[in-house]
Amino acid sequence: MVPSVTTVPIDLLAPPRWLRAAPSAGVRPGTLPDFGGQRLVDSFGRAIEDLRISVTDRCNFRCTYCMPEEGMTWLASDRLLTFEEIGRLSRIAVALGIRELRLTGGEPTLRPGLPDLVRDLAQIEGTSSLSLTTNGFLLKKLAGPLAEAGLTRVNVSLDTLNHEKFHQITRRPALDQVLAGLAELEKHPSIRPIKVNALGIRGFSEDDIVELAQWGRRTGYVVRWIEFMPLDADGNWERERVLTGPEIRAIVERDLMPLVPIHAEASSTSQRFRFADGIGEIGFINPVSEPFCATCNRIRLTADGQLRTCLFSIDEWDLRTPLRSGATDRELADLFIEAVAHKEKKHQINEGDQFQRASRSMSQIGG
Ligand code: SAM
Repeated sequence: MVPSVTTVPIDLLAPPRWLRAAPSAGVRPGTLPDFGGQRLVDSFGRAIEDLRISVTDRCNFRCTYCMPEEGMTWLASDRLLTFEEIGRLSRIAVALGIRELRLTGGEPTLRPGLPDLVRDLAQIEGTSSLSLTTNGFLLKKLAGPLAEAGLTRVNVSLDTLNHEKFHQITRRPALDQVLAGLAELEKHPSIRPIKVNALGIRGFSEDDIVELAQWGRRTGYVVRWIEFMPLDADGNWERERVLTGPEIRAIVERDLMPLVPIHAEASSTSQRFRFADGIGEIGFINPVSEPFCATCNRIRLTADGQLRTCLFSIDEWDLRTPLRSGATDRELADLFIEAVAHKEKKHQINEGDQFQRASRSMSQIGG
């Protein structure tokens, strides 16, 4: 499916009214609960150290491989975890061995008061990274407050530098705002490296490969290509549309220059390369063609407080209900431990008929 151009009134780019309401900012001290050194380790021996936290299911873009143009049902605001609830669950998770916290969505920057949440999470001792995945549209305004609040890394999702294609993909004429957001980010050296995640679709993205690579080399941004996964709300994913990392790499090496592997941490989802002339880095995240489930160290918390142990999970662990019914930190920790004990061995995208679509789409999970 090649996305079609649609004209969107510019006011649709503004956050919806309810999202402009005052946030419930929770500020708690940096101390962690004590669970006697217990750690999150799943039944395959994988230590879980990365928690992705979705702060909203809403988005101001409508990327064709992620959401339909119309018709998404949004979570009611009272089902969203408050900042205080996110802070408490994060502290419990860090006490159980989580080292990396990443905020995502939907579009996380739509959540009012996001810097307040970042400020709170930045106080938690024992984390090595506090990061954000965003479409970049609101970064011009938010990069400064987020950096000041203690954010250490940002990934901006951007698939093309061509205005018309950007509009086709996102259904929003907003490339210039995203580029302005990236430029703003550059002014804040505490947030490095700046990573740009691009999603490749066969028959559509090939022309963007060299242009994005050259741009990354000029700007210092680390461009990383991600394979299209069957997580689109429309259910239009087809294997033939997946432009694989190895294919993209071959195009870079054919049309630009050879790539030299960079040693990456075992849990890294990205295969990292530097360009042979030493200028710039590029990465490939290949969950379809080269699954990395064996080293997956992630779990995800949805905006409505459900814990997911795999992007493709069918089942979720409800943390919101106990959280709001007076559960102790110990009881919530036990739920984390129980969920992780049931973490799926691997996704089944490559298992033919055995594959079952996830119970939510990417924007509802928190990508
Ligand atoms: N709105 C934020 C953003 O744009 O980065 C965060 C949420 S978005 C769902 C996170 C990432 O998921 C984006 O980089 C997007 O390209 C990716 N994504 C969305 N649908 C996908 C799919 N079907 N397969 C692979 N990645 C997908």
